[in-house]
Amino acid sequence: MNFSDTQIVNSIMTDHDFETTDQINDADLIFINTCSIRDNAEKRVRARLQEFKRYKKQKPGLIIGVLGCMAERLKEQLIEQEKMVDVIVGPDAYRDLPRLLNVAETGQKAINVILSADETYADISPVRIDGSGVTAFISIMRGCENFCSYCVVPYTRGRERSRDPQTIVDEAAALFMEGYREVTLLGQNVNSYRCSDDSGFPELMARVAAIDPALRVRFATSHPKDLSDNLLQTMAAWPNICRSIHLPVQSGSDHMLKRMNRRYTRNWYLNRIQAIRQFLPDCALSTDIISGFSSETEEDHQQTLDLMREVGYDYAYMFKYSERPNTLAAKKYKDDVPEEVKSRRLREIIDLQQELSLLSNQKDVGKTFEVLVENESKKSKKELSGRNSQNKVVVFPRINHQPGNYVRVKITACTPATLRGFIVDE
Ligand code: SAH
Ligand code: SF4
Repeated sequence: MNFSDTQIVNSIMTDHDFETTDQINDADLIFINTCSIRDNAEKRVRARLQEFKRYKKQKPGLIIGVLGCMAERLKEQLIEQEKMVDVIVGPDAYRDLPRLLNVAETGQKAINVILSADETYADISPVRIDGSGVTAFISIMRGCENFCSYCVVPYTRGRERSRDPQTIVDEAAALFMEGYREVTLLGQNVNSYRCSDDSGFPELMARVAAIDPALRVRFATSHPKDLSDNLLQTMAAWPNICRSIHLPVQSGSDHMLKRMNRRYTRNWYLNRIQAIRQFLPDCALSTDIISGFSSETEEDHQQTLDLMREVGYDYAYMFKYSERPNTLAAKKYKDDVPEEVKSRRLREIIDLQQELSLLSNQKDVGKTFEVLVENESKKSKKELSGRNSQNKVVVFPRINHQPGNYVRVKITACTPATLRGFIVDE
């Protein structure tokens, strides 16, 4: 989401005659886009800001701006704490950047952290900075109103609002014309996307998939409480909608799920997994898991491990609970699982996921997949790397294919992270 926001900022700045540079010493202005989701993310930003001090000493007119969730969460406080910061801009105020910079140029501090009920930046075409020219993110909604008790997002990103569907379809079609072959539709909970004509996410996805069979469509993230059969049926009807669903479970224990305010039970979640298996038998599943949330017992933790085994996730993002100031959990529930217990449980979760990922990849050895080539492999120029519909990374010897091509690859070997193979029947 931040990656996509940075591209919107890039577009706004380019329209005002600014240019980007990859030489930090040349910069007259440095923006840092920030995340508040865990304390670690904020610590990394603060360490980065300390580095910027040096450049400011060398070039006294240098302007430093903090964008995104940390700007929104801390507001003026951030300028008091980090004196090198000149500009603070929340995620809904990027259109105001040129004015804020005029203020900052006079030597004053400039702040806009007003959250909006309707800003979606729908009319701004992001200036792509990912470089691959093959895959792109498209933001389809902003904000979140689910208020999971541990989560800072509803406070930093404000009310949930959906972007006009025609602007999304136009953006995807323009990307396809430029040579892009995969778009990922982004929102905190895409299942609650509402089109202006009151149709929902499945209808939007079908419209994007209809642009061209050679355009792959992915999405992130769907909240398990809202994952409908209608969405699964739509996916099944369109071969170019990728067979991969990210369905963050957070915990396998009903007690934890209730305390997290996730508004589903373990049973409900498993029932949704069953529905996915039924409609999309070849669909990959990934998840997010939090270890050591308030009052989590060994029994709760075991239930998480048990659910991971039962689902057999292909991939997972796994985190230690990090208490965020002013969230419901910070106000109501003590952060009472000792650090070493959180770490040990997280280790067990990560180790289990390694096993599950390896198992899932081993099942693919011998199969042939359609792979969208994305780039040269990191390790060798003689190899290409891409992903299959299930979102697994596939590495194979280059013949004369280019990023953006589709190839069929037969899998011969694997690690927990990668499938390897060779190109078959051209
Ligand atoms: N909207 C998405 C998640 C966005 S945040 C969803 O609900 O699925 C991405 C992930 O960060 C979450 O799924 C959760 O696992 C993790 N996360 C959020 N707040 C956290 C916190 N306070 N401590 C640790 N992990 C957290
Ligand atoms: Fe945070 Fe929950 Fe919203 Fe996801 S759905 S962004 S975890 S509040």
